[in-house]
Amino acid sequence: MSRAWLIGAGPGDVELMTLKATRALGEADVVLVDDLVNPDVLQFARKDAQIVYVGKRGGQPSTSQAGIVEAMLAHLRAGRSVARLKGGDPFVFGRGGEEQQALAAAGVQVEIINGITAGIAAPAAIGIPVTHRDHAQGVVFVTGHGAGSNEPDWHALVATRMTLVIYMGMRRLGEIAAALVQAGMSAETPCAAIESATRPEQRHVRATLDTLVARVAAAGLGSPAIVVIGGVATLGETPVSRGDIT
Ligand code: SAH
Repeated sequence: MSRAWLIGAGPGDVELMTLKATRALGEADVVLVDDLVNPDVLQFARKDAQIVYVGKRGGQPSTSQAGIVEAMLAHLRAGRSVARLKGGDPFVFGRGGEEQQALAAAGVQVEIINGITAGIAAPAAIGIPVTHRDHAQGVVFVTGHGAGSNEPDWHALVATRMTLVIYMGMRRLGEIAAALVQAGMSAETPCAAIESATRPEQRHVRATLDTLVARVAAAGLGSPAIVVIGGVATLGETPVSRGDIT
């Protein structure tokens, strides 16, 4: 019987993929790949596997979500097993939940294989733990992408005093930083932005909430990047006060 997997490829570094992910990838007849996936992970796919790129990097034309599900179903119905490969973890801002629902509606049960999400891996790549007993009792993963009615309740998030880890936040960084200060977060709160974490081209800046936008602009950082905000951002190899670009 053909199988369907929803696989997390991790943040970039091939060695951060799970054994289970590499094994499933090696079994698939067809691999549908998102654009945040490091193509090097395809070394684990079968030599004769059909590799299909279905990326949808912000704004670029890409295969629609419905089109991806249709393609998966077509392969499965033809008896081919399908691996759907996503960056990080498939269930963290990866639309994995939506794909699982759509496949279930068509009678297909997909197997989920976790990956290391960028929200943990990117801070760790510069020595920042997302929780630390001296700094934060928890961590909130939040998308910076939403605007209008999808806007997170920044007041509520600031009130938790937990580490904030923002995905997809680079385009609206100025608005987000201003909203956090408006919501009562100190402008001195330590932050870091990490671009292309765990890849050879990884870069980051450290800053405080009021200097973050300028430092990110000065360094020319863009997507994909994780922004981490809170006391934990003082930890790691470079002190926050210098805001070094490394
Ligand atoms: N499912 C993915 C997230 C997809 S949303 C995961 O669990 O990691 C896409 C966002 O993830 C990007 O805009 C960026 O905020 C973040 N991201 C993914 N890979 C990244 C990387 N290598 N470095 C920094 N941020 C990354």
